[in-house]
Amino acid sequence: MQTAKAALLVDYNKPMEIREFPLPEKLEPGAMLVRIKLAGVCGTDHHIWKGELYYPGGKRRLPVILGHENVGQIERLGDGVIKDYFGNTLKEGDLLTWHGSSFTICGRCYYCSIGQPTMCVNKRGYSGGFPCDEPPYLLGGYAEYMYLFPKTDVFKLPADMSIESVVAAGCAIPTIIHGVERIGGIRFGESVVVQGSGGVGLFGLAVAKESGASSVTVIGARAERLRLAKEWGADHTIDIMNTTPEERIQKVKELTQGRGADVVIDCTGVPSAFAEGMEMPRNSGRYLIIGQFLDAGPASIRPHIVLAKQLQIHGSSGFLPRHLANGIHLLSSKKEKYPFDKLISHKFPLQKINEAIQATGKWNVIKAGVEP
Ligand SMILES: [Zn+2]
Ligand SMILES: [Zn+2]
Repeated sequence: MQTAKAALLVDYNKPMEIREFPLPEKLEPGAMLVRIKLAGVCGTDHHIWKGELYYPGGKRRLPVILGHENVGQIERLGDGVIKDYFGNTLKEGDLLTWHGSSFTICGRCYYCSIGQPTMCVNKRGYSGGFPCDEPPYLLGGYAEYMYLFPKTDVFKLPADMSIESVVAAGCAIPTIIHGVERIGGIRFGESVVVQGSGGVGLFGLAVAKESGASSVTVIGARAERLRLAKEWGADHTIDIMNTTPEERIQKVKELTQGRGADVVIDCTGVPSAFAEGMEMPRNSGRYLIIGQFLDAGPASIRPHIVLAKQLQIHGSSGFLPRHLANGIHLLSSKKEKYPFDKLISHKFPLQKINEAIQATGKWNVIKAGVEP
């Protein structure tokens, strides 16, 4: 019997364990077995590993295999003609990425019925949503192989596409695209402030630029990241290490004819950034919250500002297959302009998964990838 190694989260905040699982002998019609080429280590993986993110509706059932930003190569296909999201008929050897939960969106619950399928109450995802102690076991990216259920939205990657770019963009780029859609898009000529210079912030910059923003200001830390933001087309950068919140708010005003920005996007995860960010849009401007994924506690805000400025504040999380399709298009069509692949700064073998998770938690890497 053929087996595959996988890294298991058996208990929170404890080293993951490498174990072997049998590969399925027969695939159900429409299912796929893919060999993982590269799996990203996202901040979310680190949070789940630490036990900081619980599954909606209660605690997740362990053990699970994490790793939700994956590129794999089709090893075997179940019966039937299997097509990808774009309509390509798939065959063994094709390179793919996939949406982690769209196949479970029910279409019938309250949120599905009101057109908010990212909030579907029946949604479950690979890489943490399915325990791996029962067949088909291999339901996360930190493994040599992964099983994809029928109806998984998969995306065949162009032959010349860098798998590093897909993994680097990971869940960040479709999340940004979804968020920008929720604020009605960024219109041609608008001024945008991106708070945060991590991966999500850099992709926010790229999406804002490609949407036609006339000026994008990135506020963040670490000189090399702000330099990267400049290389990617940021018109201005503000280093949080040598400025105060008041100075940053003032600087944004100066850069926007005294009005404030049309759009501000929070990509930070730091509660105080929310208090600061809501001072930055112009009257009737839009503020998009994407970074506060984890509950990092309260922020001291002035609610009056929301009324006085008639702010539109939107939160956004998750994404749908169409946002991933848009993201893949951006990655492949603008690879010279935004060398997304360079963001994968470190690669680890599966055996060193714990080092990869630790390095991500300590911000020692721009982004780590696991190469099983
Ligand atoms: Zn639903
Ligand atoms: Zn992620």
